[in-house]
Amino acid sequence: MARTDAVVLGAGIVGISVALHLQARGRSVALLDRRGAAEETSFGNAGLIQREGVYPYGFPHDFGALLRYGLNRTIDAYYHPSALPELAPFLWKYWKHSRRRRHAQIARVYSRLIEHCVAEHDALAAQAGATGFLRRSGWMRVFRTERERDLRFAEAARWRAEFGINFLALDQKQLQDEEPHLAPVLVGALHWTDPVSVDDPQGLALAYLRLFESRGGRFVQGNAASLAQERNGWSLRTVEGPLEAATAVVALGPWADVVTRPLGYDLPLAVKRGYHMHYRAAGKATLNHPVLDTERGYMLAPMRRGIRLTTGAEFALRDAIRTPVQLGRAEPVARNLFPLAERLDTESWMGARPCTPDMMPIIGPAPRNAGLWFAFGHAHHGLTLGPVTGRLIGEMIAGETPFVDPAPYRADRF
Ligand SMILES: Cc1cc2nc3c(=O)[nH]c(=O)nc-3n(C[C@H](O)[C@H](O)[C@H](O)COP(=O)(O)OP(=O)(O)OC[C@H]3O[C@@H](n4cnc5c(N)ncnc54)[C@H](O)[C@@H]3O)c2cc1C
Repeated sequence: MARTDAVVLGAGIVGISVALHLQARGRSVALLDRRGAAEETSFGNAGLIQREGVYPYGFPHDFGALLRYGLNRTIDAYYHPSALPELAPFLWKYWKHSRRRRHAQIARVYSRLIEHCVAEHDALAAQAGATGFLRRSGWMRVFRTERERDLRFAEAARWRAEFGINFLALDQKQLQDEEPHLAPVLVGALHWTDPVSVDDPQGLALAYLRLFESRGGRFVQGNAASLAQERNGWSLRTVEGPLEAATAVVALGPWADVVTRPLGYDLPLAVKRGYHMHYRAAGKATLNHPVLDTERGYMLAPMRRGIRLTTGAEFALRDAIRTPVQLGRAEPVARNLFPLAERLDTESWMGARPCTPDMMPIIGPAPRNAGLWFAFGHAHHGLTLGPVTGRLIGEMIAGETPFVDPAPYRADRF
């Protein structure tokens, strides 16, 4: 029987980052996944390291938006009516946590995690020789109406005052100078200048994995559902045989319940699914920044593979059949905004953002099982917060003083 100090369950961006940080603290570490590394949610995201993301994405509270979403015809949100009975308790809590005062309270806490996101990626990327994946030109929200533009400019000014986040308010002409191939239907853009974007999110995660392996870490294939508590730690079955570890970290993203539920934890987890498709840019068209078409609700991000169109939130059960309705709705709108040529993927990609109702991840010790740790629920910000989470878990397990107060992220807050 092989034995390591720690086993990390799930090799997405969060699990890989946790594994690296445990290893840096002298632990022997095995990283386990049922597939290859970063082949699920961490494969297909929009690639933003969202330094500006101090307000995690809330549930809309204005009546007009609720009505639009209720009709289920928008691009930015879509739901499976058949899933609503099961999702209702989660949505109700999510709605309550998104009330203005509560949301502001959450932002004050959450901004403490977010503020380290770029620095922690920079540290890992430098060690991994992966800085070539990082683009330091920020990202843009573009606007079709002056009303939305001015609302967002005012909001950004408040975030600058409260959280020190930087942005440029671009008028129509300045936006055309920055992005000459966007159709002239836009009235301006909010250019967040602090965030970093990744032009191949899986490539970055695999570079971090190679760093882990080059330092003696082991990637093993196996099913996390085989996790069992032993007298002196945890055991698992892997394709290479049984594995034992003193410490186990659950970094299974949307599949965390595979481990937590059998151990008796009833955590309020749900998913917001999302899709992507790549396109060739037509002719000599270039897109210089990731761009969110704010009023329509989809994103175009320039990636190594092509222009990646990503969709907003689909409220559905994690394992329900794929319904890329939002992609179908977004594509013609995107084609009018930017000259997209043919699709580059044979079918759309789907991922599931792992969500909690208070919009904050679960990072910390399992309340009732010694030697078990949780690191999941990062929702829209898993790429952003992977390395921050890795460091926090590494420091807590090693008994160091955590660089961010971990109390708000404990599982027993629910
Ligand atoms: C369309 C879209 C756009 C997004 N854009 C952004 C963005 O711009 N910026 C950002 O910060 N975030 C973004 N996100 C969110 C981000 O991608 C996720 O929060 C993040 O990838 C979650 O990482 P993870 O490591 O927790 O989960 P995952 O990457 O899903 O990793 C979990 C791993 O667990 C493994 N696993 C599952 N079950 C088992 C099992 N039984 N046994 C063993 N292994 C198992 C899986 O194979 C997987 O490798 C986006 C998400 C979507 C869907």
